[in-house]
Amino acid sequence: MRIDLHTHSTASDGTDTPAELVRNAAAAGLDVVAITDHDTTAGWTEAVDALPKGLSLVRGMEMSCIGLGDDGWPVPVHLLAYLFDPADRCFADERERLRAERVDRLRMMAELMRADGLPIDPDAVLASAGGSAGRPHLARALVEAGVVPSVDAAFTELLAPHGPYYAEKADTPLRKAVEMIATAGGVSVLAHTRARKRGRLLALDDIRELATLGLGGLEIDHPDHSEADRVVLGELANELGLIGTGSSDYHGANKTIRLGEFTTDPAQFEELAGKATGVPVIGS
Ligand SMILES: [Zn+2]
Ligand SMILES: [Zn+2]
Repeated sequence: MRIDLHTHSTASDGTDTPAELVRNAAAAGLDVVAITDHDTTAGWTEAVDALPKGLSLVRGMEMSCIGLGDDGWPVPVHLLAYLFDPADRCFADERERLRAERVDRLRMMAELMRADGLPIDPDAVLASAGGSAGRPHLARALVEAGVVPSVDAAFTELLAPHGPYYAEKADTPLRKAVEMIATAGGVSVLAHTRARKRGRLLALDDIRELATLGLGGLEIDHPDHSEADRVVLGELANELGLIGTGSSDYHGANKTIRLGEFTTDPAQFEELAGKATGVPVIGS
């Protein structure tokens, strides 16, 4: 059994459409794939409709949250939410708030650039963004306009948190997110929580507290995790009785990582699927 529980489609910042994503997952030899776009379930229906025989689909989402860092200051955290009921009112309202927030934020950054004389059309950037507007859409527009040579350069020179065009966003507090996902019948898993190149880390004690609030698991095998940090997370999962997952965080052509490059142990997946009461795993 090959199981990849963290992938992105064009519903957020991946380059495969949801239909291409499930077809590519089958072609890559996966038995189970999860679609986990940023703050949206917009890709679910297309992925279900295109699901190839022999592949199981886990419907999920990757939520932008705010937790506490080792130094006591807020730190951005990504939280994977699996198999929750999309109709749960409280959680659906929060997703709608985040979606509107993303659109406003992207427009604000694009307007700042245009006001500065950069060849950026805010309407065109938003039109290209679709369901889950984010900085990658603006980065690609900057590359296409010849302002920067690459998406990476756009992020480091213009779109970084201390860069000239960065706008804050009001992400969901991590504790509230964990509780909302549990209430909606889903299972929450902290994504790449030791990815040091992304900045400061979530405090381990914060993870211990989240476990008491219903956190379901930790993403352990991830391309941005060192061997040493995988050991730390594996021990923490054991200590807290949490599920441990492994995933590629595939983004299509936006990153070099391949589908199934990191995978989840079948027993861990069974436990995750068994805990969820929101929507079932679809397929064989
Ligand atoms: Zn992430
Ligand atoms: Zn991701």
